[in-house]
Amino acid sequence: MHELSIAMNILEIVTQTCREQGYQRVDSVSVRIGRASGVMTEALNFAFECARSGTVADQARIVIEEVPVGGHCRDCGKGFQVDEAFVFACPLCGGTAFQITSGHELELAELEVDDEG
Ligand SMILES: [Zn+2]
Repeated sequence: MHELSIAMNILEIVTQTCREQGYQRVDSVSVRIGRASGVMTEALNFAFECARSGTVADQARIVIEEVPVGGHCRDCGKGFQVDEAFVFACPLCGGTAFQITSGHELELAELEVDDEG
């Protein structure tokens, strides 16, 4: 399960951050997941809940922010965003000389911590 290793990776970063900053408990973990990253948000949610026990994020919830796929077209010179996970042609002009600029995100966006002990 791909999502489990991602969840464990996230928890590793969270644990390390808490150790460095001296946080005792994490309330929530926000991640940004691009639609083109291939990550199933529901599966990641589930994997996180399985993997969090015994870590500083034991009680934490995961907040997943989905990032739509976007790109920039060299044919029409415009930026675009699509609802699908893949782009085969520029939705504005149909050109194929485009560059994907968002949608592959897989990053930790924010940590909400309880630093009062
Ligand atoms: Zn275009």
